[in-house]
Formats: sequence, structure tokens, C-alpha cells
Amino acid sequence: MKILIVEDDRATRLRLKTHATAWGYEPTVAANGREAWEVFQAEAFPLVISDWIMPEMDGLELVRRIRREASEGYVFVILLTSQGETSKLVEGMEAGADDFVAKPFETDELRARLRAGQRIVELEHRLATSNAELAAFASVASHDLREPLRTITSFLGLLERDYRGKLDERADEFITFIMDAANRMRALINDLLTYARLDKGKPELFETFETQVVFEDKLSLLQLSIDECGARITAEDLPIVHGDRSQISQLLQNLLSNGLKYRSEESPVIRITATDSDDGRFWHFSVRDNGIGIPEKHFADIFQPFRRLHGTGSAYAGSGVGLAICHKVVERHGGRIWVESEEGNGSTFHFTLPKVPQAAISSSSAIGGETPGRDAEKPD
Ligand code: ADP
Repeated sequence: MKILIVEDDRATRLRLKTHATAWGYEPTVAANGREAWEVFQAEAFPLVISDWIMPEMDGLELVRRIRREASEGYVFVILLTSQGETSKLVEGMEAGADDFVAKPFETDELRARLRAGQRIVELEHRLATSNAELAAFASVASHDLREPLRTITSFLGLLERDYRGKLDERADEFITFIMDAANRMRALINDLLTYARLDKGKPELFETFETQVVFEDKLSLLQLSIDECGARITAEDLPIVHGDRSQISQLLQNLLSNGLKYRSEESPVIRITATDSDDGRFWHFSVRDNGIGIPEKHFADIFQPFRRLHGTGSAYAGSGVGLAICHKVVERHGGRIWVESEEGNGSTFHFTLPKVPQAAISSSSAIGGETPGRDAEKPD
């Protein structure tokens, strides 16, 4: 496993390198944080040992940069601390360090801590691999399900055209049931495909765009449902963001259509606002509706795939993947999504998006991919 050793003291640097080689690692050395940062950007390192105090760029700043840069796998960082620095461990942890070793270091201790780090990196790698396999499986499976479904729906269409009204009433009813089920299945497959394909990273798809324009596009797309229920949807001065336009558009569409769908007796009133986040680094969007609301115990789990509070048999059609897609989109942009709600009293979905291009969103495993509309057939 590759390891980046960052230490300004030449003797310690050499000692670290010799030990790392003897323990089976492949070390690369750097004499300060700035040099290490250049090396790190050119090459991936799952393990980093860095001194804290160094000229040009210290260990703390190096860790912060490593954490901001979303690399392909997890990077386990050990900071070397001198006696006086141990009181600053909290600061180091907040910057993103995983572990600390006091200088002068004990060889056995350093070795054990490196092994622990290696176990975590390997575990994360296994998890990421099985996640990718699952996503690929979902993508292929849902893609292959489309073909037989298309055959079912086209013959069903012929059956309806040629035989509806010519058989008895029960047969007409059966045709309707099959039609409904086929439509639900089509929506589910499309959502699954969208969800699975969100993982395909194409950072080059990132652009700077006005969310207000995306919002207005969505309004025209939803116009039919808006007219049907007499909904009022407003948004003012939505900001310019940097990201994958089609994914952000999908995010808005899912939240807006849920606001329309999970309505109460009253006509839906949905309002989107955006403000600065507390630390000023993000835009904080809120999508507020006056619908049926969500019990507090479900605030977290509704973002899981297939988690529906109003499942089969309820008046609300859906696949249970819409919010999981929202969650993935926001996460891929380095933001956060959550809900606040009171049963019977509407819900507010909050999400944050970074204001400036972030290194975190430029990793190849990050964002990109295609995001068809939740109900749109995608070409094969
Ligand atoms: P779907 O709408 O297809 O069921 P989602 O993933 O979009 O799936 O939503 C998951 C569940 O969260 C929904 O089944 C519904 O119970 C609940 N939910 C989502 N949005 C709202 C909302 N605006 N108001 C009330 N409940 C909601």
C-alpha cells in the first residue's frame, strides 16, 4: 500500500521511510505540506503520515486540503505531534486527522497505528467495491427489465384498443389493473435506473447556472399537475450554483412533485427560498409545502431507497426512490439534505449546495451521469 510521508526533519524523514519500506509499504516522501500537497494531487495515497509543524504549509492545513479533495477512496491520516501539541488534538481531529503519534515515536506503536489505518482503508475499499457492484447490478437489471415491459405495454395497448367494451365488464377492469401495474413498474424501473446511474462520475458535466431558470423549466413541466390541484408554487431570486445541471433539476423536480403529491385537503402551496448557510460557504435551499406532513421518527429513513410511508394501496402513487435520488445528488455535490415537518402541518425539505467549485466534487467517483425525468423513458 502506498504511503506519503511528510516531515521537514531529514533524519526523521529517512527513518520513517526506512521503517515503512521494511513493513511492506511503498513510501513517497515530501519535506513540507506544500510539497506533499503537490504530490498528493498528482497521485492517490491511501495512507499519509505528516508532521504537524513544518515550513510553508503545516500538517493541519495539509489534512484540511486532503479532506476537501474527495479522492477515490478514504485517506487515513496520522499526524506526528511534539509534546506541546498534544493539547491541540481536538484541533487536529476537527481538521480531519484520524490518528496521532507523539514524537519521538516508538517504532512498534507507529507500526500498529499504520496497520489499523490500513485495515480501515481496506474495509472502505471493499465497501466501495460492493456498492459499485450493486449499482451496476441495479443498472443492468432495470435496463433489461424494460424490454419485456415494453412488450407487455404494447400488447396491452392493442388489447385495450381492440377489445375494451367488447368483452364483459370484468375483463375491462382487468385490463385497467394490468395497465396501472405496468405503469407503476415503468416508473419504478426508471427511478431505479436514475438512482443507479447517478454514481457514474463525470465532473466535466459541472457548470455554473441559475437555479431560478431550472425552477422555471420545472414549473412548465409540472403545469398539468399544478392546474389539476390548483397549486401555487413560488420561488424568488434563487442563486447561481456550480454543479450538474440535470441532477439539480432532477432534485428540484422530485421535491416539487412530492409537494404536489402529498397534499392535504387544501390546495398545495409550495415555496422555495435560498439563503446563505451559517458558515457562508453554501447556499441553503428550503422547499416548504402545506401538505400532509411526515412523522418525526421517519425524518431520516425517507431518504433511503424504497422507504414509503404511504405504500401500496394508498392514494399516493410512487416508487419510493425519489428522495433517495435527492439524497445522492446533494451528497455528490458536497451538500446535505434533511427534512423538518409536523404531521398534518406541511413539510420543509432543506438542502445545501456549495457556492464555489469544490475540489470535493471533482473526483471521478463523484458526480455526473444522466438523470432522466422520473417518468421519462430513456433511450437504450
Ligand atoms: P415516493 O414519493 O415515490 O413514494 P420518495 O422517495 O419521493 O418516494 O418519498 C418517500 C416517502 O416520503 C413517500 O412515500 C412519502 O411517504 C414521504 N414524503 C416525501 N415527500 C413528502 C412530502 N412533501 N410530504 C409528505 N410526505 C412526503
